Amino acid sequence: MQLQSMYQEIILDHYRNPHGRGLREPFEAEVHHVNPTCGDEVTLRVHLDGDTLADVSYEGMGCSISQASVSAMYDLVIGKTVPEALAVGEDFMTLMQSKGDTTVADKLEDSLEDAVAFAGVSKYPARIKCALMSWMALKDASARALSVAHPTTPTGGSTA
Ligand code: ZN
Repeated sequence: MQLQSMYQEIILDHYRNPHGRGLREPFEAEVHHVNPTCGDEVTLRVHLDGDTLADVSYEGMGCSISQASVSAMYDLVIGKTVPEALAVGEDFMTLMQSKGDTTVADKLEDSLEDAVAFAGVSKYPARIKCALMSWMALKDASARALSVAHPTTPTGGSTA
């Protein structure tokens, strides 16, 4: 099977059978992100155990890329700490900026697992936002959840 069609198969599989879909409790933060250029939407909740992502639950609608991206992300981030998950998100961002350079995808395969299948999306600037929406939502929700979990952590500015 050609790499391109294998990648498409992975994306379609996540789209048809999304992993971890549905909004669950408990959660410390909920965010709603939209990608107006395509009409994609996602509502995403984060539940932390310490700094670890114990659950990421979501509902969404939109194109296959946006919805498959949330599902692939779910598999990647559950059980990781927030900094680890955001580091994977940075790798995904790098993949989206690779403009179809397969050497970039090869290097990131261990980190991104199924999400490396989105490599082809990097050739289509209009679709990159579809793939990135879920990661933006995760970053946003994680930051909010951490501020709830550690309300006494100084955020800078005031010195007690
Ligand atoms: Zn889209």
